This record gives sequence, C-alpha cells and structure tokens, in this order.
Amino acid sequence: MYKIILKRGKEESLQRFHPWVFSGAIARIEGEPEEGEVVDVYTSQGEFIAKGHWQIGSIAVRVLSFRADEAIDTDFWKRRLATAYAMRQHIGIAGRSDNNTYRLVHGEGDNLPGLVIDIYARTAVMQAHSAGMHLVRMQIAAALNEVMQGAIDNIYYKSETTLPFKADLYPENGFLQGGSRDNVATEYGLQFHIDWLKGQKTGFFVDQRENRALLERYAHGRSVLNMFCYTGGFSVYAMRGGAKLVHSVDSSAKAIDLTNKNIALNFPGDERHEAYAEDAFKYLDRMGDQYDLIILDPPAFAKHRDALRNALQGYRKLNVKAFEKIKPGGILFTFSCSQAVSKENFRTAVFTAAAMTGRSVRILHQLTQPADHPVNIYHPEGEYLKGLVLYVE
Ligand code: SAH
Repeated sequence: MYKIILKRGKEESLQRFHPWVFSGAIARIEGEPEEGEVVDVYTSQGEFIAKGHWQIGSIAVRVLSFRADEAIDTDFWKRRLATAYAMRQHIGIAGRSDNNTYRLVHGEGDNLPGLVIDIYARTAVMQAHSAGMHLVRMQIAAALNEVMQGAIDNIYYKSETTLPFKADLYPENGFLQGGSRDNVATEYGLQFHIDWLKGQKTGFFVDQRENRALLERYAHGRSVLNMFCYTGGFSVYAMRGGAKLVHSVDSSAKAIDLTNKNIALNFPGDERHEAYAEDAFKYLDRMGDQYDLIILDPPAFAKHRDALRNALQGYRKLNVKAFEKIKPGGILFTFSCSQAVSKENFRTAVFTAAAMTGRSVRILHQLTQPADHPVNIYHPEGEYLKGLVLYVE
C-alpha cells in the first residue's frame, strides 16, 4: 500500500470529512503510486485518516473512504452506486413514469469524487474527471448493471475532454456496453434527443430540470427569449406552459438544430417557435423590446479563479442588455454555472447591472442545482449553479 503522510496540522480538513488532499499538504510519500491508484493517507502522527485516488496536480488525493478497513473493490462501487440510486428513488426522481432523465452520480455529492453518471432512459452516460475513476471504469460499469437491475441496457463512456490530459490516459469515448441509437429521453413528460456522442457535458443539462419546470409556470401568454438555448430545454417547457412565442438563440448551429428537433418532437408544426444561430451579445443588441420573459443561461464564464474578474464583467454586461430591453412587468431567469463565481459575486454582478439601467427589480426566486446534484455538506465547493428569477417593473 502506498502511504501519503501529511504535514503537521494538515489533517484538519480531513477530520471534517472534506474529500480532497491538496498537494501542498503532503510531507512525504512512501512508494511510487501511479496516477489513479489508491493511496492511504496518514497524519503527521502516523494515524490513518483516509484513502483515495492519487493524482498529480493541485488535488493530489480524492477521498473514497475515511475507514481503514474499507476495501476499494467491486463491492465498494456497488455499495456507493446503490446508495446513490436509492437516494434518487427515495426523493422521487428515479422510477417515475413521466421522467427517466436524471443524474445518478454527482461526484463528491455522492461520495464518488471524479465520477458523474447521468441516466437517459435506458442509457447511462458515464464521465470520469479523475485518473482513478478512468482506471476502474469497467468495475463501475459492472457494478452499475447490478445496482440498476435491468433498468439500463447501454453504458456510454464520455471522458475524452474531462480527464487531465497530462496523465496520458488517452480515453476514448464509446459504449462500454450495448450501443443503442435510440437517444430520446423523457423529462417531466417532455421528450428530448440527447446527443451523448457529440453534445456538451453528458449530452444534456440535466441540472436545469427544476428551473425549467419553474419557468413553465411563468410562461403563459408571454413572449419568451431563451438565450444560450443549447438543446432548447427551457424553450420546450415554455411552449408547454402556453407561451405566446418562443425564440431560442445559441451561437452554435448544432445547438440550434437540436433545439428545432426537440421542439418538433414535442410540438410538431407549432409556429410559435423560432430559433436563431447567433452570438448572444449581437442578438441582444439588435433585438427589440418584445420579450417579457428572458432566460440567460450562459456557459461558465469563469472556469478558474483567476478568470473571476472578467467573468463578473461578462455577467454584468449580459444582464444589462436584458434589463435594458425586457418589457415592463417582465421576468428574467438569469444563471451562472461557474463554480468559481460565488452566489454573492453573481448577485452583485446582477444587482450592478440592474442599477446601471435604473430598472426597479425584485427577486422572486433564488435558484440552485436540483436534488439529484446534491452537495456533500463537507464539500461546499460542490455548489455551482446559481440562478435568480427577477420581476422587472
Ligand atoms: N440553457 C441550456 C444550457 C446552456 S449551455 C440548457 O438548459 O440546456 C451554454 C450554451 O451557450 C451552449 O450551447 C453554447 O453553444 C452557447 N454559447 C456560448 N457562447 C455563446 C455566445 N457568445 N452567444 C450565444 N451562445 C453562446
């Protein structure tokens, strides 16, 4: 067994069950672990404190267990996956007749740091964010089958862009099991083509489900602009909610294709919807003031802490444009999915934008990620999605 021995006092966060060991906390290493292997972590006093996947980088160990006697084997993956699945069933997200789209494993939030699994009907899309999870992908796939007991046929592995490239893992995207081309999944009774082969993340933004459902309740009779629409999730809900018209905008032509497909799947021939492949800022500049429900769900402006200042400016500029143009009595759904941007930072950016336009604005809802993207209470960094629903007078 490889041993990681911490510097004095560096065990404190692990005593509070935080699941990461930073490289700066390490005094010495016994043995030469390869990236992705399991290591035991000891305090400077020589006491066992945790075990987890080793990786070269600022997060050196992603903790899998705080128990010395817990082996990291097939049974371990089975137990963790079973716990995650049971939670989704207990909270009424898995096993519904009107919904088969949900996140089964959300990394640290499910005590499986480095692993994401999304379920789309009978396909599980699995994504490794650490070398350790990449190496055990076949074990996890086997455990997943046992735990889901026939609820899935296909397992698609999609880690080409999520693994540290320096680790020389050369992951290939592809099916670990099955290979169905049927990629239509249901979310709260609505149908979506999920592009796990080429799409972003695992193919769909599962994390906006509850926020889309909320939007539906505000859509009746409104003129809706869904900016950064990607697969058109918010647009489809707005249509069902009885919007007067829905315009979807994304700079990616592929996203616009997907949006049109998803609208056609649910509302064939419905002329209330139009989609435009265009840059957000250009569209916001040229558009008129016809919208009274606007969604702004941009990509993460700050992928790292050092990009924070620019990101906040980006959010401010974007929201200014929406505040300038939204009709009186309009409702703005505005989001940030940058983990590096705190709730307070985001609020300040949006408040500043409101103030710059002089509009009177009230907060109706403060939104976050849904229950199938849980935050481990010992790992507050797991909270990333922030949203505000604003009433603009
Ligand atoms: N709201 C979506 C997710 C949005 S992801 C959902 O619920 O599924 C962010 C999207 O922004 C991507 O589809 C990306 O193509 C698009 N995008 C990125 N930069 C853009 C820009 N400058 N203008 C318009 N769209 C952009």
